[in-house]
Amino acid sequence: MNSETAKAHLSGFVNIIGRPNVGKSTLMNALVGERMSIITHKPQTTRHRIIGILSTDEYQIVFSDTPGYIRKPAYKMHEAMNQFVRSTFEDSDVMLFVTEPSEQYEEDDELFEKLKKIDTPLFLVINKIDLIDKATLSGLFEFWTSRIPNFKQALGISALKKDKTEALLQHIIGFLPEGPEYYPSDQLTDRPERFFVSEIIREKILLNYREEIPYACEVIIDSFKETTTTKGEPITRINALIYVARETQKSILLGKEGIAMKKLGTDSRKDMETFLQTRVFLEMTVKVRDNWRDDEKQLKNFGYSV
Ligand code: GDP
Ligand code: MG
Repeated sequence: MNSETAKAHLSGFVNIIGRPNVGKSTLMNALVGERMSIITHKPQTTRHRIIGILSTDEYQIVFSDTPGYIRKPAYKMHEAMNQFVRSTFEDSDVMLFVTEPSEQYEEDDELFEKLKKIDTPLFLVINKIDLIDKATLSGLFEFWTSRIPNFKQALGISALKKDKTEALLQHIIGFLPEGPEYYPSDQLTDRPERFFVSEIIREKILLNYREEIPYACEVIIDSFKETTTTKGEPITRINALIYVARETQKSILLGKEGIAMKKLGTDSRKDMETFLQTRVFLEMTVKVRDNWRDDEKQLKNFGYSV
């Protein structure tokens, strides 16, 4: 593809947040497509964040349907999840806050303060408008926009009836930055655990390295296997590939005698073990690909198809 003549490809991450039962999963199904619902209706979706991928020639949107916030974490796993839910507030391109007409909020609900603090472009999505009249809807717009000043868009939709969902999509596209395809265009979702695991590595790269390094890296989970050790203990075997653009970046990642890389591996593995609740054997390989961001063929070869 000649980047001078072709229109730039857009891509980004959209987080869907809101209380249980407001219609977050229904909305993601409406946006991503019917096949998605096969995945989102499995019971495990309450435990893990589920992603849905919408790809066209012009753009790719990775939606994530955030699991509900667990108020009293009973297990380590839940703590790890809550941390994850919190971190999704920060690392997306657009955030959809979904609410519905019958939701009740206290005047001093802590949610208002939380929403005000979000720096990411935030949309107000009032779902289930098929159940109310126009006057009620304008009352709801008034209620929300008078409390939260930072909504970039405010829309009433019906996810179930697919009413105004196309308009919502167009507004989202307006906020997408230029970027590559993160997943093959025929891929609808990913194993949530895999996605989580690559997010952990990304986070640790950000914490451990400076300046351009985090932005030069692409993390791919090449394999993810839940097995047992010879003693019969559960263990997850993970192979991760980290792609960088230049040989110099590879040396920085590895560090003197591989010390930096070893730390990256240890930090990542610890978080993975907390989240997966098994021991983890993590293998990481750093590879150099010239100009991987620009080369569409290379992107396709990346093992994105696994
Ligand atoms: P989540 O917990 O936020 O993911 O909510 P779900 O997507 O599971 O939806 C909760 C319930 O609301 C389900 O019974 C949906 O069928 C219903 N629902 C979702 N969107 C709409 C809508 O636009 N209109 C109506 N009437 N019901 C909806
Ligand atoms: Mg749901």
